[in-house]
Amino acid sequence: MPDLVERMEVLRIDSEIAMRRAHGSGAIARRVGRVILRLLTADGIEGLGEAAPWAPFGNTADTTAAAIDGPLRAVVEGADATRIAALVEAMDHALIGHPEAKAAVEMALWDIAGKRLGVPVHALLGGAVRETIPLSFSIADPDFAADLDRARAMAGQGIGIFKVKTGFLTHADDLDRLSALRETCPAADIRADYNQGLAPEEALRLCRDLDPLGLGFIEQPVRRGQERVLALIAAALDTPVMADESVYSAREMLDCAQAGWADCVSIKLMKAGGILRAREADAVATAAGIPTYGGTLWEGGIALAAAAHLIAASPNIRLGCEFYMPRYVLARDVTAEPFPYEGGAVRVPDGPGLGVTLDEETLRADLVAARG
Ligand SMILES: [Mg+2]
Repeated sequence: MPDLVERMEVLRIDSEIAMRRAHGSGAIARRVGRVILRLLTADGIEGLGEAAPWAPFGNTADTTAAAIDGPLRAVVEGADATRIAALVEAMDHALIGHPEAKAAVEMALWDIAGKRLGVPVHALLGGAVRETIPLSFSIADPDFAADLDRARAMAGQGIGIFKVKTGFLTHADDLDRLSALRETCPAADIRADYNQGLAPEEALRLCRDLDPLGLGFIEQPVRRGQERVLALIAAALDTPVMADESVYSAREMLDCAQAGWADCVSIKLMKAGGILRAREADAVATAAGIPTYGGTLWEGGIALAAAAHLIAASPNIRLGCEFYMPRYVLARDVTAEPFPYEGGAVRVPDGPGLGVTLDEETLRADLVAARG
């Protein structure tokens, strides 16, 4: 039975973050711009979506809100919300790029589909292969002593994975930070993420120094476009190398697999353009024997619920997730319920649809502009 999208509300919000952050691609502002989306169908079902762009990955909250309000609104308004795959095709045909905007629309359609049937989204994706997803926290505070205290406390809460953001200080600083964290959390799986921060001519030499540290992986040492160097590093090191900025789509995953760019890949709804496109990318990775990881940009509880449903039903996305924003970085989120954590892991939501409701008061307080 068709159910037409009658209304689309595009809510551009700005949320305060509760700690300082820095990455290989630069320091982070104290507020993060996001887009919250509400779709309402003729049957009275409301679907929620969220986009959390980050300029180093291609878009801002303003460009994303404009993409949803313009070309994607033209595709979705009046369309049958139950035809998710057809709408994903239509969005790609109507607009090149803008995966964050498409992901927000698509997750709202999944939310509607689950609510209609009274089942969680992961049940529509094949059912859960896992109920919890190991959580990784990213060490990115320019005040490293504060991060060490944080890591110690988090390890006490059961968090067993830490990803150190490297490449924004000196190489010696990075080695010191990784060693100090190893001493503070001896049992942890420690990983490093350069966010494209190394120069291609010295990246291999510098990454070699990390090889004896026994890290879980080294993520994206060089820039997108420098995959020749990424492949050299992956071939030379014992430590697995993860591609993030280099691989958005299934096609890029295919290039990664064929040319040996990396040993593992970070999957993000905001890069792939939604759950179906992320699954296509992960299917290529599965076929190539490339394990994948649940990465993020600046998503809060709505988009992370969608990503948790995807990972719950995707055996190959097995390197954990970094879905810590709602609990540890956002001063407050726009969801009514706290994001579900349990003993160092994310618990996959089990309510109908995405299993998330809006906190209208916070939404109003963080609102910058509303359209529709
Ligand atoms: Mg990354």
